[in-house]
Amino acid sequence: MFADIVLPLAVPGAYTYRVPPLLEGRVEMGSRVVVPLGKAKRYTGIVLRLHQDAPPLAADQLKDIEELVDAEPLLLENQIDLWRWMAHYYLCHPGEVMKAALPSGLKLESETLFAVTEGTDFDDDDLGEVERAVVRTLAARPQSLADVRKAVGRPGVVSAVKRLVESRVIEVEERVSQAFKTKTELQYHLPTAYRDETRLNAAFQALSRSPRQHEALITFAELAGAAAAFTLDNPHLIADVRRNDLIRRLGDNAAPALAALVKRGILERINIEVGRLKTHKALPGWLDRPLSEAQQAAHDAIVRSWDDHEVVLLKGVTSSGKTEIYTKLIQRTLAEGRQVLYLLPEIALTTQITDRLGRYFGEQLGIYHSKFPDNERVELWQRQLTDRAFPIILGVRSALFLPYRNLGLIIVDEEHETSYKQQDPAPRYHARDVAVLMAHRQGAKVLLGTATPSVESYTNAQKGKYGLVELNTRFGDVRLPQILVENLAELRRKKQMTTPFSPRLIEETEAALKAGRQAIFFLNRRGYSPVVQCRSCGWSPSCNRCDVSLTLHQKIHKLVCHYCGAVYDIPTHCPQCEQADLRDIGAGTEKIETAVEKTFPQARVGRMDLDTTRSRSAYERIIRDFQSGHTHLLVGTQMVTKGLDFEGVTLVGILNADQLFNQCDFRAHERSFQMLTQVAGRAGRRGTQGTVILQTRQPDLPIVRWIVEGDYEAMYQSEMADRRIFRFPPAVRLIAIFLKHREERTVAAAARSLAGMLRPYFGDDLLGPDRPAVGFVQMLHIRKLLLKVDTRYSAADVRNILLSARQGLLNVDAFKRVSLYFDVDPL
Ligand code: ADP
Ligand code: ZN
Ligand code: ZN
Repeated sequence: MFADIVLPLAVPGAYTYRVPPLLEGRVEMGSRVVVPLGKAKRYTGIVLRLHQDAPPLAADQLKDIEELVDAEPLLLENQIDLWRWMAHYYLCHPGEVMKAALPSGLKLESETLFAVTEGTDFDDDDLGEVERAVVRTLAARPQSLADVRKAVGRPGVVSAVKRLVESRVIEVEERVSQAFKTKTELQYHLPTAYRDETRLNAAFQALSRSPRQHEALITFAELAGAAAAFTLDNPHLIADVRRNDLIRRLGDNAAPALAALVKRGILERINIEVGRLKTHKALPGWLDRPLSEAQQAAHDAIVRSWDDHEVVLLKGVTSSGKTEIYTKLIQRTLAEGRQVLYLLPEIALTTQITDRLGRYFGEQLGIYHSKFPDNERVELWQRQLTDRAFPIILGVRSALFLPYRNLGLIIVDEEHETSYKQQDPAPRYHARDVAVLMAHRQGAKVLLGTATPSVESYTNAQKGKYGLVELNTRFGDVRLPQILVENLAELRRKKQMTTPFSPRLIEETEAALKAGRQAIFFLNRRGYSPVVQCRSCGWSPSCNRCDVSLTLHQKIHKLVCHYCGAVYDIPTHCPQCEQADLRDIGAGTEKIETAVEKTFPQARVGRMDLDTTRSRSAYERIIRDFQSGHTHLLVGTQMVTKGLDFEGVTLVGILNADQLFNQCDFRAHERSFQMLTQVAGRAGRRGTQGTVILQTRQPDLPIVRWIVEGDYEAMYQSEMADRRIFRFPPAVRLIAIFLKHREERTVAAAARSLAGMLRPYFGDDLLGPDRPAVGFVQMLHIRKLLLKVDTRYSAADVRNILLSARQGLLNVDAFKRVSLYFDVDPL
């Protein structure tokens, strides 16, 4: 018997290993196994396929699987199917999908370090011999799996490490900050098998000669009963019991008895989060909150539309109560006994939405966030494989990778959001598109929700491929905000722009503040100012590792490269002409914050951008402060546009819309429309109509009118006309090809050579090679090719041509070290 195994490496295909007789029948599809690779390396891999076809390798090249890590497969078949599809569609390696999909704790790569958890609480008696040896080894210092294996020198190390990670005795060392780690506590859980009168009685009888275990089980039953009206008629009501409570009742020396009950399988030890996650308590009445008439009509239309569409697009204006409709649809899916995945773009996943859903669904809600500690993600993954799986998962794009046994519905909220697309590293997937595919394969429905659909999704709805439901009134019939356009060019000419705020914006802000209302100022650029320049010779500082100019960050008094993150001191003199006359040009959120403090001294200001939200807690504090009214004015980048719901905001200032309009990107207008409509939608969500002041130098652009009039249709039609003419999505599909290398000459030659191989097949549908606008990043020179694929090409042909061209190129000695990757459906 042989197994094809995917390893977390960027190599094509899977590796084949022999299944040793001992493991036959135990290794399954989806099993996690340890295999040797090369001379000394060990990797954990996932079994993709079991078969009888001996690979064409010499007998001494074919190696055995060394260990099986878990008793049950870690991946369901539908996940393996998804991994395959992703590698295929996004033209990347299966190992890259694996790397993205699994939390680090499940990968146990040989490079990963393990350490004994600080302040861990465990009983030596609970541990097996190998486990104890592992803990002793790691107590000395954190070590890699390979080192631990060497030190312990006995079989079973990997599964021991895995069990210890699960019970949190040891942990995977993470470089990211652990500041927001939630606490956990040990609880005991009665497995399903014993939730039955006969079985449980039999268990008690079997324990008649072990009085301590008998007593422990009785105490467990009492505590479980006290906690949940325990009766055997209602076995599902048997609660889990905290280890601390048991020990308190039974005394310190009860640990061995509890451990023995666990060994017998009568009780399970589980780790329960007692931090933020655990606090979701459903509030009575929330689920029964009625929908408004318009919401109910939209809800019913969605349900009807699912009869003949797998995907329905809900186009509902900001604050129409889309979230409210989602909750009813979730309820409906749960009633069918099926699971729900609720996807949000990364930065929109705030306490606001978690609290909100928590109020409705309480303990049924599981959260999956990339800023959560790895241990928690591992725990959630494993829990989803058990019969205690959360029926609802609220998460960011990577939540697609969790195991789902019974998926009924995927909600993609703010489906137009570009952060659904993973840029780097591979797989460069779009979570919305993957969600649609995944739902299709698992027989689930999809709801895409947004006020401003992506042109792609709206096109699918127009073609009838997706259902379309519209909701055009705000909840409570509040009117959409009034958008006033301020002509920056004219105001500047008249010398009325003495601050970054127009006189009218100042006036409106003062009025709002006086009335006890709040305002949001939006500027899509962080830092103090994007360019620093020498007044006498025009020199301006740029990054040594990238060809971009450095952004001034006044608060930390440094220059920062926004591409690679490098930080530089601010020069006192110009290195070119030695004058000490540097000035900053343009404004970022930091400068605006300062300007707000000067212009509106009576206001307390918050700022929300990448720099102020490095940690989850910082992010949440900014939102809470604003929500509670502690801050009056919030300055921010696009982060403030994302689905936030603040009652007190009546005014939104868009400080410089031209930045968005002028981007050279075929999606610039679509993006501007979406972003500005979204940020405008933060104003006047309750009661009174809000006001939006949009400052631009180009007030006559049609896009400005469409935004002001909320005319999505006009924007859409104009975009579609352009994209048909200039051949951009959705009229064609794009595949970008990137090449990177330290030497500009090498990468240029490689790109030319690749283009030469592809041109015969694609002719003018292949653009480039070009040096991108920023053509040197992190010491690497970049070249880009762009392929426009329409229906004349078969997807399989395109894939084969591209993959063999890549192979052909990388086989050339001079180009061996060129890094080449594809970005399918690039943004
Ligand atoms: P959207 O997601 O469309 O922007 P929300 O779901 O956030 O809109 O709703 C806007 C506000 O109106 C929220 O504060 C929400 O609590 C409130 N709301 C919406 N629908 C209802 C309803 N049926 N009953 C009570 N409040 C509602
Ligand atoms: Zn100078
Ligand atoms: Zn840089």
